Amino acid sequence: RERFEASLAELDDAVPQPNRTQNRGASEAPAARTGFDNTADTDPALPQNRAWGLEILRRVPSSLLGDDTIAESIVHDETELDAVIQTAAEAGSAWGRLSGAERAEVLHRAGDELALSRADLMEVMASETGKTLDQSDPEVSEAIDFAHFYAERARELDSVDGATFVPSTLTVVAPPWNFPVAIPAGSTLAALAAGSAVVIKPARQARRSGAVMVEALWRAGVPREALRLVQLADQSLGRTLIAHDSVDRVILTGGYETAELFRSFRPDVPLLAETSGKNAIIVTPSADLDLAVKDVVASAFGHAGQKCSAASLVILVGSVATSRRFRTQLVDAVSSLTVGYPADPSTQMGPIIEKAKGKLLSGLTTLGDGEKWLVEPKKLDDSGALWSPGVRAGVRRGSEYHLTEYFGPILGIMTAATLEEAIEIQNEIDYGLTAGLHSLNSAELGVWLSRIQAGNLYVNRGTTGAIVRRQPFGGWKKSVVGPGSKAGGPNYLLGLGSWQTAVSHA
Ligand code: GLU
Repeated sequence: RERFEASLAELDDAVPQPNRTQNRGASEAPAARTGFDNTADTDPALPQNRAWGLEILRRVPSSLLGDDTIAESIVHDETELDAVIQTAAEAGSAWGRLSGAERAEVLHRAGDELALSRADLMEVMASETGKTLDQSDPEVSEAIDFAHFYAERARELDSVDGATFVPSTLTVVAPPWNFPVAIPAGSTLAALAAGSAVVIKPARQARRSGAVMVEALWRAGVPREALRLVQLADQSLGRTLIAHDSVDRVILTGGYETAELFRSFRPDVPLLAETSGKNAIIVTPSADLDLAVKDVVASAFGHAGQKCSAASLVILVGSVATSRRFRTQLVDAVSSLTVGYPADPSTQMGPIIEKAKGKLLSGLTTLGDGEKWLVEPKKLDDSGALWSPGVRAGVRRGSEYHLTEYFGPILGIMTAATLEEAIEIQNEIDYGLTAGLHSLNSAELGVWLSRIQAGNLYVNRGTTGAIVRRQPFGGWKKSVVGPGSKAGGPNYLLGLGSWQTAVSHA
């Protein structure tokens, strides 16, 4: 950090500095009230933005914050929960009577407020979940995008030809900790845009991130009664929440098993669930191998691989499999990653949430038949949260590693004689969230596009970082439970209510 700051100090003399305590977003909040453009991320090439980033990191603790509670939002028992749900449901009826255009105004303001909170959101994501700034900055941009994009989709709901959109009353939003701002914001903003009240229960490990996001929405004018933030004092209250009569929709992002559990609590209520993934990138001999290595490393080890969209398999085809070049470059790139906590600006790969346990721990410490470590993961401190990244070769078709989601910093290498075989290997996986192809051959691209079974396809690019409107996010197969509509896509709101048509015999 000292070296970094020294170089900044030199630059300071040359470049006029903004007020360092000013939020980066403050001067850049979009003024537009209609239309949609994707929000730009902070450009780290500008010295004032690097100074701004260091300012954020100064407020971040040197290890994970650990479970944090927010006293005001704790719900202790069924009676308290029932009261929260009833007031939200009443507020939901009033919110749903606003026109889509009126809701759009509030949502656009929510986008502005999220932009103003960029630094606070990045600080809290780093503190709670170990997100490095290069990961959290685009996440804030995505949350802002959801607000402005869904605002415009809300407006469209007013004028669908021949049909009337009838909002749901109360939606429960249950987001994960790995995207602790963009996913809660996206689900909440979508439900609000579609005229429903929301009770949101942030993930236990990311409550404060959820709270900072919700506060931005309240400041924008979303009524507090129509957007309730809850933490449940007792896990069993989760069932009470989902199963409550007044809840008429649930949006979940989490594991497949959690989605099945939610569905069993309340089979009659529409559930939209984005679930797990086991994603692969295929690299063919026509690929730009330097680019492929870079994208595979970013997709596998960004946020320590803790993304549903992460690539945890790379399938090498033909001469890429038989020559050493790709593997050698991959091993060099992975071995050079700096692992640590985000408070240290030199950190490239952050911690595992809490600590490696269960399936992930076994993935970091054991090999299947025929597998060997090209880069062996090492536990770096006593907390069990800091692990160096791992690369295993020799993963066999149908093996546990081939088919299981580990949700951590491990990458497996498989090989195939042909692109067709590589596609079969990829399609054998039960999940179908993201998939990647590195190839500069358009015939190969055509074959892959027509056969691959996944919702989000990435060509000559990493498999993470879906973009509102340009690459709406959502999968196939076991990666989705419910209707499978795409977050950040044009039709997402259409599935969040009911439709009425009327005809009269005049
Ligand atoms: N939307 C995120 C991405 O495209 C992934 C979300 C998730 O991990 O659930 O990388």
